[in-house]
Amino acid sequence: MPAGCPGQRALSRAHCKGFAKGRRRLFCSVLPLPKPFPAPPSPPAAAAPWRPAAGAGPVSHKKGWLRLFFLPGTRSRASRRVGVMGTCVELNTKAKMPILGLGTWKSPPGKVKDAVKDAIDIGYRHFDCAYVYQNENEVGDGIQQKIKEGVVKREDLFVVSKLWSTFHEKSLVKGACQKTLDALKLNYLDLYLIHWPLGFKAGEHLFPVDEKGMVLPSTTNILDTWEAMEELVDAGLVKAIGISNFNHEQIERILNKPELKYRPANNQIECHPYLTQEKLIKYCQCKGISVTAYSPLGSPDRPWAKPEDPSLLDDPKIKEIAAKHNKTPAQVLIRFHIQRNVIVIPKSVTQHRIEENFKVFDFELTKEEMETILTFNKNWRACAFTMCTDHKDYPFKAEY
Ligand code: NAP
Repeated sequence: MPAGCPGQRALSRAHCKGFAKGRRRLFCSVLPLPKPFPAPPSPPAAAAPWRPAAGAGPVSHKKGWLRLFFLPGTRSRASRRVGVMGTCVELNTKAKMPILGLGTWKSPPGKVKDAVKDAIDIGYRHFDCAYVYQNENEVGDGIQQKIKEGVVKREDLFVVSKLWSTFHEKSLVKGACQKTLDALKLNYLDLYLIHWPLGFKAGEHLFPVDEKGMVLPSTTNILDTWEAMEELVDAGLVKAIGISNFNHEQIERILNKPELKYRPANNQIECHPYLTQEKLIKYCQCKGISVTAYSPLGSPDRPWAKPEDPSLLDDPKIKEIAAKHNKTPAQVLIRFHIQRNVIVIPKSVTQHRIEENFKVFDFELTKEEMETILTFNKNWRACAFTMCTDHKDYPFKAEY
C-alpha cells in the first residue's frame, strides 16, 4: 500500500478498475499526482491547517509510512484496530481535512454564532460555509471569538466556503471569494468550492428566475470558472479548490482541461443511505478527489420538505442498527460516511445535537451493517435543485 493518507485507504486495483487510465492511476489520492497536474503549493509550515497544537490540536501517530491524525479524545479502540481510520482525510494538496465538520446551511444568523462556538468547544475544527447561506458574517464572529479566547488558532481550523452560481464569470470570482473572506473575517480559506456546476445570470438576485420560476442561466462555462479558481490559489486567498454537485462527466471535463494547473481537491455531494453514490465516490476517490457528504441526515429542515418524503432519522432499520450500538440514528448516519473515508458535515444549531454528532469515533459499524445500509439506496435526493432542471449543465440527469 502506498504511503501517505491517514483517512483514505489505498484502493485495490479491482476497486478502481474502469476508472484507471494506466498504472499510475490505479490507486487513490495517496499517490503523488501525475506530473502535468501538480497540486497547489503546500501551505508554509506555520500556516499548516492541521498543525498539532499543545493541548488543542490533533495527535499525529507515526507508524512507518502511515500517519494517523486524531482529534483530542477521539482516538478510539475501533480506529486503532482499523488502523487507517484517522479523523482527517489527506487532500491531494497534502493538507489534512477533518473528516467531520459542522454544516451551516439554514443555520439562522441569530443562532449560528453560538453553534460555531459550541462546536469549537466540543472539538469541531472543520466548518462548511457558503456565500449563499447568508450567514458567513455570524459564522466568522463565532470563529473570531474562539480565536480571541485562545481556544483555537486559525491554523487549527479548516474552513470551507463556496462560490455562488451568479459569480461564475471569470471577472467576478475573486471579488466573490473576497466577500466571503471579509464576512468570515479570515485572510484565507482552506478549501473553496464551485457550489454548483451551474452558472446563473449575474446580478443582485441569488436565484434569478423567469416567469415560470426556472433559473436564468449565464453563458459561462465551468472550465473558465475553474481557471479563475486556480488564480485564487496563486493569489494565496485559498489553500485548495474543489467542486460541489459535479457529476463524473463534468469532473472529467475539468481533469481533461488543457493546461489544467490544479486538480479539484474535493467534490461535495449529497450522500446518505437513500443516495449512496457508490459510483461517483469510487470515481472521485480513484482520481485523488476526496468526497464530502452533505445532507447526511437527509436534511429534515430543508424548506421544500413534504410530509410524504422519506425520513432517514425515523428509518426503523437505521434505528435498529443504532440500538445495537447504543447509539442514535444520527450517529449511525454520520459514522456510515467515516467508514467509507468520506468527509461528513451534519448541520445543527442545537448544542446537545452538535455534541451527539461528534461522538462517532468510539464505535464501529460491522462490515455486514455497512453492506446492509448500502442496500437502502433509492436514489432519493433531498436537494434536487428542480428550478435548474432546464439548465444545460444540470448535473443530476447523468447516471453518476
Ligand atoms: P443535515 O445535516 O442532513 O440535517 C440537518 C437537520 O438535522 C437540522 O434540522 C438539524 O436540526 C437536524 N439534526 C442535526 N443533528 C441531529 C441529531 N443528532 N438528531 C436529530 N436531528 C438532528 O442537512 P443539511 O443542512 O442539508 O446538510 C448538512 C450541510 O451540508 C449543510 O448545512 C451545508 O453546510 C452542506 N450542504 C451543502 C450543499 C451543497 O450544495 N454543496 C447542499 C446541502 C447542504 P437542528 O439544527 O435544529 O438541531
